[in-house]
Amino acid sequence: MAGQTPNRIRGTQDMLGEAQRAYQHVVDTFDRVRVLYGFQRVEVPVFEATAVFARSIGETTDVVSKEMYTFPDRGGDSLTLRPEFTAGICRAYLTEGWQQFAPLKLAASGPVFRYERPQKGRFRQFHQIDAEIIGAAEPQADIELLVFADQLLRELGIADEVTLQLNTLGDAPTRDAWRAALIAHFEKHRGELSEDSLDRLARNPLRILDSKDPRDRPIADSAPGIDGFLTEEAAAYFAAVTSGLDAAGVKWTRNETLVRGLDYYRHTAFEFVTDRLGAQGTVLAGGRYDGLIGSLGGPETPGVGWAAGIERLAMLAGAPAAEGPQVALIPMGAAAEAAAQGIVAALRRAGVSADMAYRGNMKKRMQKANTAGARFAVILGDDELAKGVAAVKDLASGAQSEVTLDTLVEAVRAA
Ligand code: ATP
Ligand code: MG
Repeated sequence: MAGQTPNRIRGTQDMLGEAQRAYQHVVDTFDRVRVLYGFQRVEVPVFEATAVFARSIGETTDVVSKEMYTFPDRGGDSLTLRPEFTAGICRAYLTEGWQQFAPLKLAASGPVFRYERPQKGRFRQFHQIDAEIIGAAEPQADIELLVFADQLLRELGIADEVTLQLNTLGDAPTRDAWRAALIAHFEKHRGELSEDSLDRLARNPLRILDSKDPRDRPIADSAPGIDGFLTEEAAAYFAAVTSGLDAAGVKWTRNETLVRGLDYYRHTAFEFVTDRLGAQGTVLAGGRYDGLIGSLGGPETPGVGWAAGIERLAMLAGAPAAEGPQVALIPMGAAAEAAAQGIVAALRRAGVSADMAYRGNMKKRMQKANTAGARFAVILGDDELAKGVAAVKDLASGAQSEVTLDTLVEAVRAA
């Protein structure tokens, strides 16, 4: 006997109708815009050796220490479902010899996995779009990625609801000096920090700035910003990025305490945030990760990139209307039904979207054509067939005309 149907796993999604269209709209818009910027698609595996993520994202980050789906496979190797794209892309850059193509502008999208507490805008299997430039140390690469992100948000119609927050994490000497000042600040407030942040203080103090715990917020917000510690080179780099954004007409605001999870972030760090999604307000985020490829055992190679949650963008942008077929074919009678198979095939081969119900009388089929939002109903009775014509009804205006079968494709395509 069949048992109970197994449930959908917590934090995963099934999408149909409006939800799927909203999702698809983000992916399609991303794919259209990335072509304008010359980013080529890259496909990488959904799972990797655990070390790929542990070494590139960093052992002390939340993603690696708490959120990864890690399991031994049947051969005993430790594998991890990708929690992001960057690490796998950088691994491929090294193992597949893609260095020869540098600088490489890449775009990817698909599912990623994180073991988090599911809530609105936070899933265990979610989806990202991702853009990376590997092998370019110039601020022009950072600018190009940010203008790309900005155009994507504009084309999704949500640019006004999202703010670009920008920071620099400087170069290595900048970061060391800032880090020492932050540790001194947090040590002064040791007694008020959350347990998690006490742990971060020992392992990754910059992360305290990013804490969502209300006990940490006042201490994080009063921490020294990075500007007092920037070297001349780091300041010049940041100035080049911001003036490029200004020239391109991209609005940004400075957030002097914005940090990103990775230990290897350098220079530019950014988040596009909204106040429309509650605590899940970051829709797109990224930065420069010049130390990452080195940490994977490759030659020191600069990189910069961003990722965005498709679900969060889709929630903001909403779904376009469902598209009905151009033609609903409605055969009446056995001979017409058989001939209609040839007509519907010809329409589709000519690039005209066409649909034909499997069953139902004229009235049912007409109703179905209207509900589907078809532009034309093409009605084919045995009499019409004998004359080599069909009745074409414009479903919006109700106007009906007779069209010969050999001009049908042109008649409905042109309209
Ligand atoms: P958050 O602070 O919300 O946890 P994050 O810093 O972990 O985000 P990133 O690693 O920068 O996120 O991932 C890039 C984007 O992916 C985020 O800006 C967000 O839009 C999306 N994202 C991250 N985690 C989730 C999740 N669990 N469910 C849905 N979208 C997510
Ligand atoms: Mg997170």
